[in-house]
Amino acid sequence: MLHERRTIGATAPSTIPMALDPPLLSGSCLCGEVRYALRSPLKAVSHCHCRMCQKAHGAAFASYGSVPVADFVVVAGAGRLRARESSPGVTRSFCGDCGSPLTWHRAHGDAAAWISVSLGTLDAPFAPAKQRHIHLDTAATWHDAAPATTP
Ligand SMILES: [Zn+2]
Ligand SMILES: [Zn+2]
Repeated sequence: MLHERRTIGATAPSTIPMALDPPLLSGSCLCGEVRYALRSPLKAVSHCHCRMCQKAHGAAFASYGSVPVADFVVVAGAGRLRARESSPGVTRSFCGDCGSPLTWHRAHGDAAAWISVSLGTLDAPFAPAKQRHIHLDTAATWHDAAPATTP
């Protein structure tokens, strides 16, 4: 029998249909096929300037906020999600059609219960109380505002 085979692996985002609670925030990829909802507030907002985030996002840095894994819910386009292990235990998911980076997850350590969501894909206003820049040692030299503006 033909059966859809998910290739996301152990870090697959939850695809449980939305419960009664409305999502706190929602987001989508560039083409709009993959849509997700967040069921708890984004925490630990960071802008990561590491080389892998630069490559994965095609940008000076990647902006992420985190929620518990079960609180990231794919509400449409789950079949278009692709994932790649970018370093041991670290999986980045993205839309297989348009390439938008969507999540980052580390399978080991204290943070394994959390999944990081690309803030650029949010479709709702969000203003974090706190945020920080990390891995500034590899900050892009062609970006004028990166390290010098960090307190
Ligand atoms: Zn897409
Ligand atoms: Zn990074």
